[in-house]
Amino acid sequence: LVASGKGGVGKSTVAANLALALARDGARVALLDADLYGPSIPTMFGTFERPVSADEKRVEPVSAHGIYLMSIGFFVAPEQAMIWRGPILSGTILQFLRDVNWGKQDYLFVDLPPGTGDVQLSIAQHLRVTGAVMVTTPQDLSLADVTRAKGMFDEVKVPVLGVVENMSYFICPNCGTRHDIFAGGGGKIAAERLHVPLLGTIPLDTGVCLAGDSGAPTVVREPDSPVTQAFISIARSLAGKISMQAMDGASKRGLFSKEFA
Ligand code: ADP
Repeated sequence: LVASGKGGVGKSTVAANLALALARDGARVALLDADLYGPSIPTMFGTFERPVSADEKRVEPVSAHGIYLMSIGFFVAPEQAMIWRGPILSGTILQFLRDVNWGKQDYLFVDLPPGTGDVQLSIAQHLRVTGAVMVTTPQDLSLADVTRAKGMFDEVKVPVLGVVENMSYFICPNCGTRHDIFAGGGGKIAAERLHVPLLGTIPLDTGVCLAGDSGAPTVVREPDSPVTQAFISIARSLAGKISMQAMDGASKRGLFSKEFA
């Protein structure tokens, strides 16, 4: 799950680019846009293709840039979803999880709505979630929102794998000097407060913003840029944490299968 205390911190941008970074490393990846009030995945991936059903029972996800996608934005205009209430929102999300033919994937990323609401809760309760990543910004010093989100994940036993600080610093495209324009350290402070690792920092970069509007996220549009390197490094660290968790689960079940033991 990719979560944030509030909107506009770059949660969808981070979700999309981390998903694409793992796909670039060879993983099979899907991304569910659960931000029903502000679905930005169709725009970011440059596709508004209406999903089709092969068997009239399950809907096929949309394929773009090598990963599978599902978003309410493929079905309705954002204004239409704005008026939905809690139970409809949760029902829609559960349908997306159950009735989409996700196939065999190594990772399913879920871009959550900001904050703590019905959608976050029903996903955390109905899915066996591997973990959550919290996205913050350096100036996001009011820790109340992230703390509340962590509290919710703790309650539903979803491990928080770490914090990603987005829009951390600016590298001047002319001289290459790094400018810490928002000298807040919000990501580090949030990670310390929540007792989870800071997975990495992503610079504020005009390319990220342009890529988001162009239909090809940064990792695809600028495959060799420093921002892409930052996303790849975070994605690999995340993959490491996830496999350690899987190993943990395996060691609890025992090393040998019943037949062998
Ligand atoms: P959220 O999902 O938290 O609401 P978005 O991912 O939609 O946030 O990002 C909000 C806006 O900020 C978008 O226009 C996006 O392109 C821009 N943005 C996100 N991250 C960066 C970044 N690192 N550098 C520049 N612009 C960014």
